[in-house]
Amino acid sequence: MNTLLHMQGLTKEYGKEKAVDNVTFSLNKNTSTALIGPNGAGKTTTLSMLAGLLKQTTGSIELDVGIKGDIRREIGFLPQYPQFYSWLTALEFTEMAAKLSGVDAKIAKVEAEKTLEFVGLGEAKKKKTGTFSGGMKQRLGLAQAIVHKPALLLLDEPVSALDPIGRREIMNLLKELQAKTTILYSTHILNDAEEMTDQLLFLRKGKLVEQGSMEEVREKYANPQYKVYFTNSEEASQFIETSPYPARQEGPIVFIEIGEGKLQMNEVLRVLGNSNFSLSKVERATASLEEIFLQVVNEG
Ligand code: ATP
Repeated sequence: MNTLLHMQGLTKEYGKEKAVDNVTFSLNKNTSTALIGPNGAGKTTTLSMLAGLLKQTTGSIELDVGIKGDIRREIGFLPQYPQFYSWLTALEFTEMAAKLSGVDAKIAKVEAEKTLEFVGLGEAKKKKTGTFSGGMKQRLGLAQAIVHKPALLLLDEPVSALDPIGRREIMNLLKELQAKTTILYSTHILNDAEEMTDQLLFLRKGKLVEQGSMEEVREKYANPQYKVYFTNSEEASQFIETSPYPARQEGPIVFIEIGEGKLQMNEVLRVLGNSNFSLSKVERATASLEEIFLQVVNEG
């Protein structure tokens, strides 16, 4: 079986409100999945149920684990706002996390050292966590989540609070982990998801409203267009008035819909070439993941 986790009809109710509403999905082994949604969509609640921190109201979670009965060993969790004991060193903290996750006490320190090295905190391992910067804390948070080599790694907004350099560093670490771990992470920073994600899950008001691979989602929402760069807005407007194709204008740029008939670039160039317009560039444009996100979460 290639499936590591399957959740079926998962629901979490708070009074009359459903924070998570009948959500079903699977995670295949050694794949990476992004849980995408705006604030309040139910991402944290979903991850917390998977991590065993919250009990679902209804629905089931099945995890295909090797070591039966000891879920701690199979799941690693990085909460959105990880807490550390400020008086412990990074090494002491990570060693403690290793032991709490079931690593044999005799090897916990060595494993903690290796993990801190991996996340780039080798030189800071003897420093107290209270002195750490935001980026260092996020690396330490990742270290405590992976020190016991879990089969499933759950990360709640692992990069949202970081600057672009910190984000890149954490995403690079996750890419390295991807080969040997199943990763489920929540995010609303879509550019990060673009790089390392096998499956996208879109949540809106607790419901799973779209899912698929990057290609599938793009295919469905990308609405491919040709982007024609005129040298000025006036020419772009003139073209729009006479355009044989559905088109819209943004300043000197005109977007021509490729549509179901799969309008060919050659055809567009021929029409443009027969006119007196001066063009600088024509290219095929697809919606960014950011634009797709807005489409998906604003629908309905
Ligand atoms: P964010 O990006 O802001 O962290 P999220 O997608 O993680 O959002 P959740 O934190 O899972 O969203 O919250 C989903 C919904 O459940 C929200 O409407 C929230 O107000 C509600 N909720 C979460 N926890 C509780 C609670 N303990 N009691 C009552 N309502 C809650």
